[in-house]
Amino acid sequence: MAKKENKSMIPYAACRFCGQMVQFGDDCELTQPQAEEKATMMCQCSEAVDYQKEKQRKEKALKNVSALFGGDAAPEKRAGEGIVNILQAAVEEIYSGGLAKVTLNLRGGIKAAVSQNSKGEINVERTETKKQKLTE
Ligand SMILES: [Zn+2]
Repeated sequence: MAKKENKSMIPYAACRFCGQMVQFGDDCELTQPQAEEKATMMCQCSEAVDYQKEKQRKEKALKNVSALFGGDAAPEKRAGEGIVNILQAAVEEIYSGGLAKVTLNLRGGIKAAVSQNSKGEINVERTETKKQKLTE
């Protein structure tokens, strides 16, 4: 059977991990991958629950990037958009398992780090080192 890009009426989809059909109410504007994602996010099997936790971690880490460096930070603490993009990309890569840690040295003695700890949590850190040096 040919695959169709069909957006109409997908009232249920299979969990990506256990294949169980999960039905969801009136949300029928989803594409097939979106419907599968939604089913996976609703399934109770252990793989799906792990996946849901990981995804929440990622979303939390992205929020933390925004809180420390992005639009949710105080105006004088905001980093440039390009830097925020790098940090967000780092969260994505750590989430997908390709990366363990990224540290950026920003101008003004600010360090930005994104890393994953042994519990699998994604940490976002901001370190400001202000060195005072007096020369005779
Ligand atoms: Zn499942």
